Amino acid sequence: METKEGRSGDTAVEDIETWMDKAFDMAKDALQNGEVPVGCLMVYNSEVVGKGRNEVNETKNATRHAEMVALDELLNWCHSSNLDVSRVSRNTVLYVTVEPCVMCAAALRLLSILDLNERFGGCGSILDVSSADLPQTGNTFKCVSGHRAGEAVEMLKTFYKQENPNAPKPKTRKD
Ligand SMILES: [Zn+2]
Repeated sequence: METKEGRSGDTAVEDIETWMDKAFDMAKDALQNGEVPVGCLMVYNSEVVGKGRNEVNETKNATRHAEMVALDELLNWCHSSNLDVSRVSRNTVLYVTVEPCVMCAAALRLLSILDLNERFGGCGSILDVSSADLPQTGNTFKCVSGHRAGEAVEMLKTFYKQENPNAPKPKTRKD
């Protein structure tokens, strides 16, 4: 008998909604903390093995996108469970509130993670890293997009309307 693993296109709709709800909760937490509102979960065998929200401002590190934070958790989880990273990641589904950017899409390819779900888009809106023919850069992955898209875009708009507390103060001219 074949072992049934978490990945596959037939994840029940209710399960997808449950995972996406949790990802949205994390995106809201990011927004409340002055971060770009993106949240994500990585699910392997119906278990959350990584989660993250954008923490670029908090860490002052431009690469700490939600997906990268979740990837680090996934790697730690594999390490502590003594499981092979590539085997786990090939059977992991990412639930993310916003289309992964070019950097994150490339990282997902390298680990063969399936993305189930606009500015730096790496899955079609700017570059299509997810399905591009890049034989040296991991595997293509499938995207299912549009889940609660309106809400995700509204959160992004709210964020970009706010003043960036980390932006340099405009210089006042003394004439
Ligand atoms: Zn990213």
